[in-house]
Amino acid sequence: CGIVGYVGPRPALDVVVEGLRRLEYRGYDSSGVALIGPDGLQVAKKAGRIENLDKALADRPLSGGTGMGHTRWATHGRPNDRNAHPHTDATGRVAVVHNGIIENYSQLRAELEGDGIELVSDTDTETVAHLVAGQLAGGAASLADALRAVCRRLHGAFTLVVVDAEQPDVVVAARRNSPLVVGVGDGETFLGSDVAAFIEYTRDAVELAQNQVVEIRRDGYTITDFAGDPAEGKPFRISWDL
Ligand code: GLU
Repeated sequence: CGIVGYVGPRPALDVVVEGLRRLEYRGYDSSGVALIGPDGLQVAKKAGRIENLDKALADRPLSGGTGMGHTRWATHGRPNDRNAHPHTDATGRVAVVHNGIIENYSQLRAELEGDGIELVSDTDTETVAHLVAGQLAGGAASLADALRAVCRRLHGAFTLVVVDAEQPDVVVAARRNSPLVVGVGDGETFLGSDVAAFIEYTRDAVELAQNQVVEIRRDGYTITDFAGDPAEGKPFRISWDL
C-alpha cells in the first residue's frame, strides 16, 4: 500500500518510519521496515498500527543509512506479523517490499518449492525475495540487474523495492501499473509510492514511467527499462504545501 525508501546520511529508520506515517492516510493493516547497517540486514514488522512497529523498534532499535518501509493492505494472506512486509530470502541477504499483486505467484511459488526453497509467508510478494536472491547467487552483476531479470518474469501490477545486505549503498525499485516516485535530495535520495513519503526533505521529484527500474544512491539515481537499457523518468517540482 505505502512504500518508502532511503539512502543517505540520516538515520534511515527515522526517515522511513516518518514517511510511513505520512502515507497512513491511505489505510493499511500492517507495517514493517528493513535497514542495512553495521549489523547487516535487519527487519522489523508487525500487524496492526504503526505504533505496534514502534514498540517492536523500541525494544530492538535498528541502525543504518539505507532502508525501506511498507504499510500493507493485504491481498494474499491474512494480515499478521508473518505476512507483513518486508519479506526476505532464506539466507537473510535480500529483503523486498511490494505494492500490488503478482498474478503468476502460485506458479513461481511451485517452482521455488521444487528447488527446495521453503516459503514462510502466504503472500505473493515473498516469491520475489527468493527469486532476486537466486539471481544474485547465480551471478547477477548488480541488485538492479537481479531485479530486472525477476521483473521480466512477473505478471500483474507492482511496485517493488529491494535491498541487498552485500550492496549496502543502494536501494533498487521497479514499477509496473503501480506508482513510484524518486525524491532527489542533496547527498541523499528517497523513494515513495507517493511524494508524501519524502515531502519533508525535498521538493525535487522524478516520476518513473511504466516498466522501469531505478537504483538510488546518496549521489543520485539511475533509471533503466526492464531490459537494462537507459531510460528517463519525468522530473517535477513538488509545489504544494505540507
Ligand atoms: N499483494 C501483497 C500482499 O498481499 C501486497 C499488498 C499491498 O499492496 O500492500 O502482501
